[in-house]
Amino acid sequence: WHQTERQPKGGENMAKVLIIGAGGVSSVVVHKCAQAAEVFDEIVLASRTRARCDAIAADVKERTGRSIETAQVDADNVPELVALIKRVKPQLVMNIALPYQDLHIMDACLECGANYLDTANYEPLDTAKFEYKWQWAYDDRFREAGLTALLGSGFDPGVTNVFAAWVVKHELDEVNVLDIIDCNAGNHGQAFATNFNPEINIREVTARGRYWEHGQWVETDPLSWSMDYDFPDGIGKKKCYLMYHEELESLALHLPGLVRARFWMTFSDSYINHLKVLGNVGMTRIDPVKFHGQEIVPIQFLAALLPDPASLGPLTKGRTCIGDRLEGLKDGSKKIFYIYNICDHEACYREVGSQAISYTTGVPAMIGAKMIAEGKWKKPGVWNMEQFDPDPFMHDLNIYGLPWKCVAVDEKN
Ligand code: NDP
Repeated sequence: WHQTERQPKGGENMAKVLIIGAGGVSSVVVHKCAQAAEVFDEIVLASRTRARCDAIAADVKERTGRSIETAQVDADNVPELVALIKRVKPQLVMNIALPYQDLHIMDACLECGANYLDTANYEPLDTAKFEYKWQWAYDDRFREAGLTALLGSGFDPGVTNVFAAWVVKHELDEVNVLDIIDCNAGNHGQAFATNFNPEINIREVTARGRYWEHGQWVETDPLSWSMDYDFPDGIGKKKCYLMYHEELESLALHLPGLVRARFWMTFSDSYINHLKVLGNVGMTRIDPVKFHGQEIVPIQFLAALLPDPASLGPLTKGRTCIGDRLEGLKDGSKKIFYIYNICDHEACYREVGSQAISYTTGVPAMIGAKMIAEGKWKKPGVWNMEQFDPDPFMHDLNIYGLPWKCVAVDEKN
C-alpha cells in the first residue's frame, strides 16, 4: 500500500476502501467487500445522492452486521473529491460511478496518494466513444507516485480479460482467435429495460460494431452481424450480435499471436425492436435538443423514464453465461477452449438483493480490490486485468460467487 497516516487495525493486508457511486453495481461491491471482512476492515460509500448510499448501508448492516460510513460527493468536482479522500484516507478508491468520472477520480487519487480501480473505461460525455488512450496516458504519473490503477475490473471487461490470460498461461502457447460471448438468458418481465446504467448501455449497443483482424480494426454497422451460439448447461441456442467492447482494445495489444478478436452479446428480438424504434425517432441521440425553451439530451431523458437497473433485482429470473472461446496452438497443434461462468439472477438476489448483471460486475470489482490489498496485483502504473497473474483472481472467483469452467471444444462446434 501507498504510505498513509493511517495504521491498519488488522493484519498486514487489511484495507480501507472508499467506494464512489451508489447504483446497481455499487450495491453488490459494498455487500461483497463487507462479506470479505478479512480484507476490507473499513468501507466508506460516497455518491452524488447520499440517500442511495444510506439505503445500501442499511441493507449491508441487515445482511452482514457491518457498519458502512456514507458521504455525499460530486465526483466531477475534483477539489470536493480530494477533500473527501484526504478526510477518509483510504488505501484504494473504487470508482463504481460512471465512465464520465474516471479521469476526475484518477486525478484526485494522484493528488491524495490513493490507489484506483474502475469497471469501465473513460468516455467523454459528448462523444459516444470509449478508448483506453485517456487512461493509459496516466501511466507515468501513477508509476512516479508508486500507485496502482487497475482498469476494467468487472466481468466484461474484467473477468473476460482474466479468462483469456488464464488460458494463455495454462492451456495454449498462443491465442489466434478470441470470441468473447456475453449471454443474458434472464427475463425481467419489463417491455424494455437495461441491466445496467441505461445511458451507458444504450450508447454502447447503438455504437458501430468493431473487431480486430490481422492487426487492424474492422468496422460494421450497429448490430448488423449476428450468429447463433449454443450455450452450455441447458441454456441452449441464442442469437448473439457483434459489438465493439472495450476489452478488445487491451487484449489485442497484450495477447500473443492474436489474429482475430470479436465480442458478441445476446439480445432478444423485442429488445432490438425497441432500440430500433427509439433510434429511428431520435430518442437515443446524445446531443442536446431544444424543448420548450430548454435544452435536453434525448438519451438522458429516455434513461430517466426507463426502470432503474437496481430495481430489476426482485423481477429477474434465469441465468447469465459469459465466457471466452479461444482458438490457438499448444505444442504446434490447434486447440480450442471455452471458459465461462454461469450466474443465476434469483440466487444473486437472495444473496445480496441484486440481479446477476450487477452481481457479475460487482464481485470482480471486489476481487480486483482484494488483489491490490493483498499485494498480489500491486504494481505502480496503470494496468489492464490481463497484465497480472490470473491465478489468484481465478481462485477467488470460485470462492466469492462466480465459479467458472474451462472445457476443450471439438473443432466442429
Ligand atoms: P447506475 O446508474 O446504477 O449507478 C451509477 C451511480 O454513480 C449512481 O449512484 C450515481 O449517482 C453515481 N454517480 C453518477 N455521477 C456521479 C458523480 N458525478 N458523482 C458521484 N456519483 C455519481 O450504474 P451501474 O451501477 O449500472 O453501473 C456502474 C458502472 O459499472 C458503470 O460505469 C458501468 O459502465 C459499469 N459496468 C461495468 C460492467 C463490466 O462488466 N465491466 C458491466 C455493467 C456495468 P445518483 O444515484 O445520484 O444517480
